[in-house]
Amino acid sequence: MNKIAALLLLFLSYPLSAQTIKIDNLRLWAAPDHIRLVFDTSAPVQHTLFSLKNPDRLVIDIKDSKLGGSTPQVESDNPLIRRIRSANRKGGDLRVVLDLKRSVKPKSFVLRPNRKYGNRLVVDLYDVVAKKSKGRAVKTPTAAKRYVPRQLVIAIDAGHGGEDSGARGKAGTREKTVVLAIARKLAALVEKESGMRPVLIRKGDYYLGLRKRMKLARQQKADLFISIHADAFRDRRVRGSSVYTLSQRGASSEAARWLAVQENSADLIGGVKLEDKDDILASVLLDLSQSATLQASHKLANSVFRQLKKLGKIHKRKVQQAGFVVLKSPDVPSILVETAFISNPSEEKKLRTSSYQQKVARAIMNGIREYFRSNAPPGTILAERIPRRHVISQGETLGRIARLYQIKVHALRSANGLSGDQIRTGQILRIPKT
Ligand SMILES: [Zn+2]
Repeated sequence: MNKIAALLLLFLSYPLSAQTIKIDNLRLWAAPDHIRLVFDTSAPVQHTLFSLKNPDRLVIDIKDSKLGGSTPQVESDNPLIRRIRSANRKGGDLRVVLDLKRSVKPKSFVLRPNRKYGNRLVVDLYDVVAKKSKGRAVKTPTAAKRYVPRQLVIAIDAGHGGEDSGARGKAGTREKTVVLAIARKLAALVEKESGMRPVLIRKGDYYLGLRKRMKLARQQKADLFISIHADAFRDRRVRGSSVYTLSQRGASSEAARWLAVQENSADLIGGVKLEDKDDILASVLLDLSQSATLQASHKLANSVFRQLKKLGKIHKRKVQQAGFVVLKSPDVPSILVETAFISNPSEEKKLRTSSYQQKVARAIMNGIREYFRSNAPPGTILAERIPRRHVISQGETLGRIARLYQIKVHALRSANGLSGDQIRTGQILRIPKT
């Protein structure tokens, strides 16, 4: 009897241990509204999640798995997790227990291997309390509506983040790190600019889906969206900065197409393909209103490109087009700046320095300023400040011009120091505010 049991055990345990999935690594990323846990697994895993109360815990059971290393230490300032424990259960399952600071809403999914990573299990913990209190804060009563010119909102998007580190230089510099540093410097410059307000789309080292980035910008009613990246190419000699707008149909060059694949694959890396689903509307709107936005994007791109050109080497002679998902907001002029080639050793070195990051930020800022000098939308502080001008065309009279701008003829006269009705074709008139 004993012998048979032992034999049976041997029989059973052999294939079982062969199937045991190894979990080599467990990473933690903290985003403002959630914490992401990523398990690197040697094969696709099956898992179950459940929550326990008093105290709050989240239990993750992973079938036929074993943790290779130890569970990571959780920083004391982690908003949600107090501690991570793990144990192997009878039957070969791995149980990971998260001791929580408060209850969370978990979401989990597995990811298939890609160029950078193998199989992964991702568990996102959403902060239930934070979401609730945020909802209340939004409902503050609005004061009586009085016309006040508004600030321009500049959305600054540092590419990649968290699991997705973007391109990597020979010396180990990560794109996600340097572009965040540049984004922060640009935000500080925009902050100082009167009539403008920055919105940092990514605020730390965590991943954001490409559609989520667009969504955040649109929620903030952004007037512009600027995505900041650093290029990479297999030929390490290639260098210089480039500026991209969304291509109307596909990519305008082979290299641009290649780059678009690189940048867009971030969504596969971050694993948020699911998010595509709630943006069917965006793709419908895209066709309808994109052409005006594309035109504006192009103007902005040219302004920024001209400024970057002053800074040093540029990669291509003009603004490029490619099918970047992150630029697809139908109503927000959007550009993508590849600041430099991180794959080029000397540019990599520059990208790491605070002074160069500042220079790039300043060049982009100058480009933004230049763009708005002639394109500030009505109702913004900047548009109010720019004096309106009218070039007189043949046959026009003061009366007609006054009616056009809905002002009085005498106001038009006094703003331009005119005593009579004498005007000539090509003359420039100042149009006073009403
Ligand atoms: Zn990038």
